[in-house]
Amino acid sequence: MNNKGLLIILSGPSGAGKDTILGRLFLKNDKIIKSISATTRKKRDKEIEGKDYHFISKDEFNDKILDGDMLEYACYCENYYGTSKSEVEKLRNDGYDVILKIEVEGAKQVMNKCGDALSIFIVPPSIKILKERLFNRGTESEKELELRLDRAREEINCAVNYDYIVVNDDQDKCAEDIYEIICAEKMRSYRIKNIINEVLKEC
Ligand code: 5GP
Repeated sequence: MNNKGLLIILSGPSGAGKDTILGRLFLKNDKIIKSISATTRKKRDKEIEGKDYHFISKDEFNDKILDGDMLEYACYCENYYGTSKSEVEKLRNDGYDVILKIEVEGAKQVMNKCGDALSIFIVPPSIKILKERLFNRGTESEKELELRLDRAREEINCAVNYDYIVVNDDQDKCAEDIYEIICAEKMRSYRIKNIINEVLKEC
């Protein structure tokens, strides 16, 4: 039986609450995992190399592009971010449902390359709340915050290109909704055709 895991794109503007939602999804199911991206952004104080990101230089990032192992990559607010194709494939082949927590340009690349990827966009209930969350987080300078807010408006415009849009006005409800979407997606008939074949063999 083919137990290959799902490929799940999770996007949403900075401050939409993606990390909190991911934390809740991991608690619900330990076969859901996040792909660890490479980035040229500076590490934040609380971040851990290899857990939050692989923090690398611009030269190292370019080398990865040249190696041809980037499933997708994009420049976001002056830094580069990208996903390793081989790491994602390995996790999926080991049966994990792999979440790519990526911005909209990279998401578009994955949608074009991987027709069976599930895509979900998280929106904040309002720009006012998004601003409050970003300011309270305190991880960016004023200039970076402005860049992220400009980018947020552009990103929200792309939400309609995703399979699902989930509003994050209640973190528990948002995580539950996303979990249910993932569970339903796993039961799509074309994904479990092989089970039917197994059952029919016994007839
Ligand atoms: P942050 O700097 O806040 O960690 O991430 C900034 C943005 O980059 C977020 O929207 C995040 O989802 C996105 N991002 C993180 N990793 C990747 C990646 O591998 N590829 C792309 N395209 N975007 C990413």
